[in-house]
Amino acid sequence: MQQDAPSVSAWPKAPRSAAAVEADRIRCVETEVIIIGGGGAGTSAALHLALRGVSVILLERGLVGSQATGSNYGGVRQQGRHPAGIPLAIKSRAIWARLPELTDTDAEFDPCGHLKLARTEAEEQSLLDWNATAAEYGLRPRMIGRNAIRDLHPYFSDTVIAGSLMEEDGTANPRLLAPALARAAKAAGASIREHHAVTAMAHDGALFHVTANGQDFRAPWLLNCAGFWGGQVAASFGEAVPIAALHPNMLVTEPLPYFLRNSLGVVGGDLYLRQIPRGNVIFGGGHGEGDEDALSTRPTPQASFGAMQRAIAVLPGLRDAMIIRSWTGTDGQMPDKFPVIGASHTTPGLLHAFGLCGEGFQTGPGIGAVLSELVMDGRTDVPLDAFDIGRFRVQDAAA
Ligand SMILES: Cc1cc2nc3c(=O)[nH]c(=O)nc-3n(C[C@H](O)[C@H](O)[C@H](O)COP(=O)(O)OP(=O)(O)OC[C@H]3O[C@@H](n4cnc5c(N)ncnc54)[C@H](O)[C@@H]3O)c2cc1C
Repeated sequence: MQQDAPSVSAWPKAPRSAAAVEADRIRCVETEVIIIGGGGAGTSAALHLALRGVSVILLERGLVGSQATGSNYGGVRQQGRHPAGIPLAIKSRAIWARLPELTDTDAEFDPCGHLKLARTEAEEQSLLDWNATAAEYGLRPRMIGRNAIRDLHPYFSDTVIAGSLMEEDGTANPRLLAPALARAAKAAGASIREHHAVTAMAHDGALFHVTANGQDFRAPWLLNCAGFWGGQVAASFGEAVPIAALHPNMLVTEPLPYFLRNSLGVVGGDLYLRQIPRGNVIFGGGHGEGDEDALSTRPTPQASFGAMQRAIAVLPGLRDAMIIRSWTGTDGQMPDKFPVIGASHTTPGLLHAFGLCGEGFQTGPGIGAVLSELVMDGRTDVPLDAFDIGRFRVQDAAA
């Protein structure tokens, strides 16, 4: 007959050896700030904190920049932002200009101008309205009327009736941003740990306890920069939000004779398009699909054909261009299309910056700076009220 095992609590407690205590101490790494996620927001936060002498560890499940930050269209655009997001976009634009000084590379940032196109009079009016709002923030978009747009861009079809140019907007190479910020953060003293998936996290009232790769990390600050998966991090601290996955559908053509300096968008956002100096035209519009648990995404034929038709409607010269690749990625989107940025309402020391709603390549560098200010100064000049996680009620998250 099998005997019952004595209950664990009845076992005599052996005094822990000094070596065992030391082994625990080594297994548990203590730092001032732990960052979950090595996209643009997380790597920028690591850099800005390290530059201010803070001890920081960034934990990234894969490689830095391997999710949305590394797979996006590359638009560095302030134009078209909701007014609540304009100050953050302006702050971030200033950091884009300083990338060479901060990281020794420009990540191919090219202030080539962003030209937003109107195809109807209502769209033209919406450009005028946004330009008036932008002027209140010191931005200087410039309207290009019917005749001028045809003179300047003879390759547009008659579908295009006007445009608005933000000369200081531009594009960059998504593959380069997060690795550049991470390298600079490391050089400034941050610990960047790739292939460290965070599998457990808790707060004991004073410190966060985070487990990744079987190792424990402790810190009084935790920055949730986990992109779409930031929703899971927030939920594990009792702050579930109604986040949805966003998979913008992307395509690229064979190299074509160079003709297009500006990055283009259309009012409504169902087409955005740019040509890189090598000649390939990169464009997007519509949505692909993905499995967020399996970390896999794919473009869809329907979205791709729709984007091709809209691209040809604006630029008939693309009619015979060969598509050589299509892809998508995963970003997080909130119902109001505002990101979640700011302090947790449940857990002291937890700062959120996730669900960047398809606009976070441009804002990532600025978000990292804002997070570093919240940690170090307890405040930032960038208004964050619209991005507060408290705007979601529990029933919204359950819906
Ligand atoms: C196809 C596409 C096109 C886009 N085009 C543009 C554009 O032109 N301009 C623009 O401004 N924005 C664009 N965006 C949006 C932009 O790319 C994102 O908003 C931004 O990159 C998000 O940055 P992030 O740092 O929040 O997230 P991410 O870049 O997704 O980084 C989050 C990181 O967290 C890591 N992570 C998650 N969970 C864990 C865990 N448990 N443990 C450890 N690590 C974890 C992930 O591996 C990931 O690397 C586009 C997005 C996509 C997908």
